[in-house]
Amino acid sequence: MSDALDIPGWKHVYSGKVRDLYVPAETPDGAEAPSMLVVASDRVSAFDVVLSPGIPGKGELLTALSLWWFDQLAGADGGESVPNHLAGEPLPGEVEGRAMIVRSLDMLPVECVVRGYLTGSGWSEYVKHGTVCGIALPAGLRNGDRLPEPIYTPAYKAPLGEHDENITYAQTIDLVGADRAAQLRDRSLEIYRRAAAAAEAKGLILADTKFEFGVDDDGVLRLADEVLTSDSSRYWDAEAWQTGATPSERMASFDKQIVRDWLAAHWDKQGEPPALPAEIIERTVARYRELLERLTV
Ligand code: ATP
Ligand code: MG
Repeated sequence: MSDALDIPGWKHVYSGKVRDLYVPAETPDGAEAPSMLVVASDRVSAFDVVLSPGIPGKGELLTALSLWWFDQLAGADGGESVPNHLAGEPLPGEVEGRAMIVRSLDMLPVECVVRGYLTGSGWSEYVKHGTVCGIALPAGLRNGDRLPEPIYTPAYKAPLGEHDENITYAQTIDLVGADRAAQLRDRSLEIYRRAAAAAEAKGLILADTKFEFGVDDDGVLRLADEVLTSDSSRYWDAEAWQTGATPSERMASFDKQIVRDWLAAHWDKQGEPPALPAEIIERTVARYRELLERLTV
């Protein structure tokens, strides 16, 4: 699944489901490099598998959205600055527009999920048990309803090829220690609230999102990976949410839900997933583009 490229000055070291990582070419094999080049590909994953074909333009759209949010959260929105992993100007050339130079951080193995609304796997669990990731919620909520308060529902970031799994807050303490666990939770909830308010001002609902954090050599916690993109978050149209009659009208998605819904209806999660039809690809990229425009323009 790697699309490793020949990028002058950099060598390929790792490919995740969506991003390819490079280190400076002079880095000895196996050694740590202080900085990395993260290139967002057009690959799309759902249910932890990479689908084909990719979505043309997706890498650029995700990178533009991440960079915009990093900038907002660094204080462009007038708020306090959240330390992040950016470490230089993006490159011109083949990967222009879809690459970021970042500090190599010691990544924490926790996916910091925050949910302000009830849907997806949270909704499925709520229907069965009245809880989301073990957190009890009031009775009578519908799919897509706003939660009384945003909740933090961490997951263990499984190694490549394995599925991430929800974990309790106590398990995050076992993984990263009590102080770091509390910092992850508090920072995640803070960023969610700030971003959800910014989205709301643009007529958008930030239903849920996932952050990844890493620690630098000085022990500073930094927001890493992608942030508040349509891959890592669910965004809905606020007006449709208010007036829509059915769950799909209420949750008019600007995100990967279009792909998830199509796949859920056409694949039983056994064997190779079917190829994405052109219509789904076009609709997804159009919605990703619309989200970027509505948020940033
Ligand atoms: P996986 O790591 O399981 O492949 P993924 O499919 O989400 O997960 P991608 O998002 O495609 O992976 O790849 C990005 C990878 O780079 C992730 O493993 C992420 O944790 C890592 N990463 C992001 N930012 C940094 C950083 N500043 N320092 C070190 N690693 C980073
Ligand atoms: Mg990722």
